[in-house]
Amino acid sequence: MPAYDDSNIFARILRGEIPSDTVLETEHTLVFRDIRPQAPVHVLVIPKGAYVSYDDFAANAPEAEIVDFHRALAQATRDLGVALDGGQGFRAITNAGEHGVQEVPHFHMHILGGRDMGRMVQPG
Ligand code: AMP
Repeated sequence: MPAYDDSNIFARILRGEIPSDTVLETEHTLVFRDIRPQAPVHVLVIPKGAYVSYDDFAANAPEAEIVDFHRALAQATRDLGVALDGGQGFRAITNAGEHGVQEVPHFHMHILGGRDMGRMVQPG
């Protein structure tokens, strides 16, 4: 696992050094709007802890942080009107590393919705 680089932009958001458009905050998790939205709903769900990628988080985070992350994600989908109980659904995406084309090396889950999201990946 690469070392966590705490100069990344999401670490700076968590330290309050730069602003974010916050949707939801819990003890261990922050949900905020993506600065370059690719759908009418496009938010990022991030743990407050220092994890590089989803596999890092899933393998190494304490259970309380993992549960909090997923419960916050579910709450955000409800708050944003894309959850299946009342909404029309969403796509959750996480990119990891070079082949995943991860831009920011702090684990984040994209939640996209508000329109038909089309095919899952571009044909190779
Ligand atoms: P990824 O390629 O999965 O690492 O995605 C990183 C995402 O972070 C992109 O969708 C960017 O638009 C988004 N992003 C970068 N800087 C910010 C920021 N300051 N606030 C909100 N979203 C950001």
